[in-house]
Amino acid sequence: MRLTVIGTGYLGATHAACMADLGHEVVGVDVDAGKVAALRAGRVPFHEPGLAAMVARHTGSGRLRFTTSYEEAGAFGQVHFVCVGTPQRGDCDGADLTCVEEAFARIARHARKGALLVGKSTVPVGTAARLADRHPVEIAWNPEFLREGFAVRGTLRPDRLVFGVRTPRAERLLRQVYAPVLAAGTALVVTDFATAELVKTAANSFLATKISFINAMAEVCEAAGGDVRDLARALGRDERIGGAFLGAGVGFGGGCLPKDIRAFTHRAAELGVDLGFLRHVDAINMRRRDRAVALARELCGGTLLGTRVAVLGAAFKPDSDDVRDSPALNVAARLGLEGADVTVYDPEAMDNARKAFPLLGYAVSLEEALRGAELVLHLTEWPQFREIDPRWAVRLVRHPRVVDGRGVLDADRWTAAGWHFRALGRPAPEGAGGERRRG
Ligand code: NAD
Repeated sequence: MRLTVIGTGYLGATHAACMADLGHEVVGVDVDAGKVAALRAGRVPFHEPGLAAMVARHTGSGRLRFTTSYEEAGAFGQVHFVCVGTPQRGDCDGADLTCVEEAFARIARHARKGALLVGKSTVPVGTAARLADRHPVEIAWNPEFLREGFAVRGTLRPDRLVFGVRTPRAERLLRQVYAPVLAAGTALVVTDFATAELVKTAANSFLATKISFINAMAEVCEAAGGDVRDLARALGRDERIGGAFLGAGVGFGGGCLPKDIRAFTHRAAELGVDLGFLRHVDAINMRRRDRAVALARELCGGTLLGTRVAVLGAAFKPDSDDVRDSPALNVAARLGLEGADVTVYDPEAMDNARKAFPLLGYAVSLEEALRGAELVLHLTEWPQFREIDPRWAVRLVRHPRVVDGRGVLDADRWTAAGWHFRALGRPAPEGAGGERRRG
């Protein structure tokens, strides 16, 4: 089939490449000429495992093209996927739909007769129906559940597909687009517009709630002297609960979860439904950043003024260079505001971090970040940080003090190597060489 993908950011570039991989002819459309030029040259302007090779392969074969022209896209496509951004509005918690509205208006103007316009952006419930009323074209909603870091696999082998449709024809076209994915046994839910939109915001709200739940338990553990890592391990064994998303730490961030739960709460309130619990979920999440800063201060005897701090991590999660609402950078910036001399290192997100926080210091390597540090904060769960040998690292730093903001470092090993080790939601070991706790 001939498809277009409008908006070629994290979601759209992945969707375009994966659709080409499924055998379709695809044109990606973006208003950002620089992004289009990079993608045309087979370069992906962000880090996503496996994506660059896929884009290069399909741009090379001519099956995947990129343009800034809606005219070209409209003349080409039978199905148009809209993947533009829906950030938080500046004046309230609601979603800013400017890009979605513009993209639908422009492609509706240029689309061929019989084309299907499919929304994939995450939108407040009611958006698809409003767009369908406004434009004389057929519309469907097909929310996207991919996770950055696993985006290619998440698109080609998703847990489920959701089609929000009003006609059997729209369903038929979407089934044709995803035929190989469906043939592989992927579950499909065909539903109305409102439910399709809600599945996405409900899924993100559930995941955010699970993370904040375990982080609230971390707060109780801190107050009561418990260990949230052991607690989570035991909780996760209950098959009704499951172990995923029970890693206590500095909380969630990124371009989706925080703004999506706020927009959902806002939209529900417009509909007369009180989702106030999601405000608590958000508040617990933000408190974990405060707690990481407080632990850092505590470890340094009450003040961070003039302390040389190494922050390990800038991306909001591993396997991504996305720094949107990154807990790591937020904590780093706060340490800087308290007078610490902060040096950040991340394997992939340095350029984005520098653009977002130009006043922080940056190291070119892990070793450079650690050298001379008086405090280390582990804030993004990259494998290379998890695998640090604490006996190697202890020789580089000036003071061996570490805060594990992701709850994955082995307290025993770090303590045995001479580190003063603290982690969110876990009791303090008795100091370097002191009483040993199970890791
Ligand atoms: P992004 O900011 O990386 O990409 C958005 C792209 O849209 C940009 O390249 C921008 O230039 C382009 N754009 C804006 N207005 C345009 C227009 N009128 N015409 C053409 N292009 C336009 O955002 P993203 O992370 O890819 O997210 C896009 C949507 O997908 C959001 O609604 C988000 O919530 C949702 N989503 C994202 C993810 C994810 O992991 N990033 C996962 C699922 C859903």
